[in-house]
Amino acid sequence: MDTFDQQYIWHPYTKAPNPIKSHQVLSAEGVYLNLDNGKRVIDGMSSWWSAIHGYNHPVLNTAITQQLAKMSHVMFGGLTHQSAIDLAKILVEVTPDNLTKVFFTDSGSVAVESALKMALQYWHNKGEKNKQKFITIRAGYHGDTFGAMSVCDPENGMHHLFSGVLPKHYFVKSPSIVSMEEALVDLEVALKQNSDSIAAMILEPVVQGAGGMRIYNPQYLTKAKVLCEQYKVLFILDEIATGFGRTGELFAMDYVDCEPDILCLGKALTGGYMTLAATLTSDKISSAVGTLMHGPTFMANPLACAVANASINLLLNSPWQDNIARIEKHFYSELLPLKNNNKVADVRILGAIGVVEMVDDIDVEKTQNQLIENGVWLRPYGKLLYTMPPFNMTDDELLTITNAIKVVI
Ligand SMILES: *Cc1c(COP(=O)(O)O)cnc(C)c1O
Repeated sequence: MDTFDQQYIWHPYTKAPNPIKSHQVLSAEGVYLNLDNGKRVIDGMSSWWSAIHGYNHPVLNTAITQQLAKMSHVMFGGLTHQSAIDLAKILVEVTPDNLTKVFFTDSGSVAVESALKMALQYWHNKGEKNKQKFITIRAGYHGDTFGAMSVCDPENGMHHLFSGVLPKHYFVKSPSIVSMEEALVDLEVALKQNSDSIAAMILEPVVQGAGGMRIYNPQYLTKAKVLCEQYKVLFILDEIATGFGRTGELFAMDYVDCEPDILCLGKALTGGYMTLAATLTSDKISSAVGTLMHGPTFMANPLACAVANASINLLLNSPWQDNIARIEKHFYSELLPLKNNNKVADVRILGAIGVVEMVDDIDVEKTQNQLIENGVWLRPYGKLLYTMPPFNMTDDELLTITNAIKVVI
């Protein structure tokens, strides 16, 4: 542990100086992180949902070094490169048929910003200049930039800090909190009253991640999409957390037959190696938008695109469905019984996602130290203790995680 780090470096969602010491990672290999205190811990977080194949993977290492020998970066304005072309081809192929245009960005939040811009420019160019608001379900999370933040849950999110600056959008009941029927009625009422001013609905399909780790009935997507079409509101799915197998389908929207107008991808896109995100849309939307007024400096970074290609191919050529089913089964047998523990409020499981919601807030520092003693890295927040392991984790390694969760509970 480094005192310079604690004194001088701002870590996510913490104070500087940081009251809690960060654990220093010396190297990472497979599903293990090697810490500077000599401990080797299993990463049950996949580095925030992204390292789906684990660390230091030979196939991904090769892809990135081969690209590095050619060039690490070139601007994307007026130039292009094979890794971006190959990646766009795969993304168009594996996502719904209507999605044929790919806009690369450098982070998930910016992919969301681009999606929101696309929706606004679409209606602007269609002459519907009042359609400048968004609608979303509560308990969502879409990133930390201003546009993204404005559609995060208004209570969990950072709205109270920035309420004077954040645009006000429409929040409706989440099917992860109330019944699907009740959520749909709430959506329809809001659309009926306000659709003249609403450009798009944005939501995370099936699993709401950082906004509370909640799961809902995929049928809601189909029905919400129909309502949005009826009220002339575009439908944006944020698959940044759920994409690339995590929920048991390649994309969570694949649980139903749902074609979003705009789709955001990120996190596991590069197998957790580099920062990269993408926003996909249809011919219909892109032709009405025309010139998209966005262009990050490191857009479509070649190293990131090369490793994303390798990661997606590695995933598609692996028995990922069997792996996710195996992990889900493990969570059902090891985590679900914790529902009977009086300190546990709820247990939620889908695919390679296992969530234990406690009755009381978790003491993060104490819990994390205990988890590390038990050979596991997790990052609890609020009342939530959860794991989203790399897909190639063995049953023994999974057991180490679920046993550590039981110990700290
Ligand atoms: C993480 C996340 C984002 C933001 O991605 P960053 O790369 O952290 O900017 C947006 N939406 C969802 C659903 C996410 O989980």
